[in-house]
Amino acid sequence: MSASTASDVRPESEPVEAFAERARAWMAANLPPRPDRVPSRGDQARRTHERALQRLIWDGGFAGICFPAAFGGLGLSAAHQAAFTEASLPYDMPYSLNVPTFGILAATLAEVGSDAQRARHLPAILRGEELWVQFLSEPTGGSDLAGVRMRADRDGDEFVLNGSKIWSSAAFASDWAMCLARTDWDVPKHRGLTMFIVKIHQPGIRIDRIRQVDGSDEFCQEFFDDVRVPGSAVVGGVDDGWSVATQLLGHERAAVGGASKYTSGRLLLHAEGDFAADLVAVARARGVDGTPSVRSAVARARIAETVHAQLTGHVMAAMIDGELPPSAGAYLKLSAATTRMVHDECGLQIAGVDGVAWPAGDGSAPGRGAGEATLWRQALSLGGGSNEMQRNLIAERVLGMPREATADHRVPYRDVPHA
Ligand SMILES: Cc1cc2nc3c(=O)[nH]c(=O)nc-3n(C[C@H](O)[C@H](O)[C@H](O)COP(=O)(O)OP(=O)(O)OC[C@H]3O[C@@H](n4cnc5c(N)ncnc54)[C@H](O)[C@@H]3O)c2cc1C
Repeated sequence: MSASTASDVRPESEPVEAFAERARAWMAANLPPRPDRVPSRGDQARRTHERALQRLIWDGGFAGICFPAAFGGLGLSAAHQAAFTEASLPYDMPYSLNVPTFGILAATLAEVGSDAQRARHLPAILRGEELWVQFLSEPTGGSDLAGVRMRADRDGDEFVLNGSKIWSSAAFASDWAMCLARTDWDVPKHRGLTMFIVKIHQPGIRIDRIRQVDGSDEFCQEFFDDVRVPGSAVVGGVDDGWSVATQLLGHERAAVGGASKYTSGRLLLHAEGDFAADLVAVARARGVDGTPSVRSAVARARIAETVHAQLTGHVMAAMIDGELPPSAGAYLKLSAATTRMVHDECGLQIAGVDGVAWPAGDGSAPGRGAGEATLWRQALSLGGGSNEMQRNLIAERVLGMPREATADHRVPYRDVPHA
């Protein structure tokens, strides 16, 4: 069966329902079915497969639905994207490209990148040729992002980067990064930062993979040793990196909270609408679906899921209408993280001993999924900014409460004491 191509259609004037109808027909003809089991995070073959899937979607004329038409996207509305995502649920999709590549980094680049940067990278990203990652967190801590200590020293038309980044998701398998570094040490911490586009695999960057408690080794730490980047790699302006980072973090909250118009297809990061049904399946497989405590755990998960879905809808609508500021994305991120925690706790309760041990190599053992999910249950309450930082944001930026007292806001960063 042949795929329709981007040049066959004029999607910019297409009504949402007609677009969705065309997408459904194209998916039925071109996309493989959704896999039974979510592929593991470190699976390199899966990543290659997802790049190819994204290329298929590009060739079909459905890539980058909300990205600017001038830079390879379709320039359509969030409603078009939502309809496409809805139609895509039964199919295999390049899930892992959503976060961080599409929803965070491409979204930021689309908004604040130069025309040359957007023309160079956005079409390549939408073709599945470039995976991106964030180089933000450092070994000294991630919550105090404005306190980054990686240095970028100007040398003619270039900058020379030295330092270390950590907790970068799948940097080893990615191509480009947005990297926050300090260009001015003589001003307060927020004012001396610059965001750079960095090619990941190049001399001077060493990538170490970090093994997690569940055996995965997707997280990386990078060591920069005199890495030269051209002045054209600066995103936004020199010393204006904090405003770029702020924009990026807004996209991160929206993407991780499940409210980004730049992601396409289901998100793997947080629980979905059928999660409680998965719990019921585990309960049935273990023969405990009549047990009162198990039934109440399923109900608890379902309630959390329903409240999260309602909250997401209301907050998104209020943000679109301007009733809530962009920082209100912190509600979505916080709700996604706390809902995920409830799901995982309920899942482990239902799985019982089967969530702790299962026969080696048995991918379908009841409880295995719940056991593995439990090992990752903290991830969403840290990645994209911790729950505490989301609560700070809601207090200060949405509710207008006084800012948290800090000792380092007005002093040159050079004079800030470091442990
Ligand atoms: C799944 C996942 C993916 C990630 N991917 C990336 C990535 O691709 N790139 C990247 O750069 N980073 C990534 N991170 C790192 C993430 O951004 C950091 O873990 C996060 O910002 C917290 O930083 P930290 O771990 O250094 O904890 P710290 O900042 O040291 O914080 C430790 C604890 O102290 C609390 N705390 C700190 N400051 C305050 C405060 N002012 N008020 C109240 N409580 C506070 C925090 O909430 C936290 O509980 C990822 C993390 C996870 C879990």
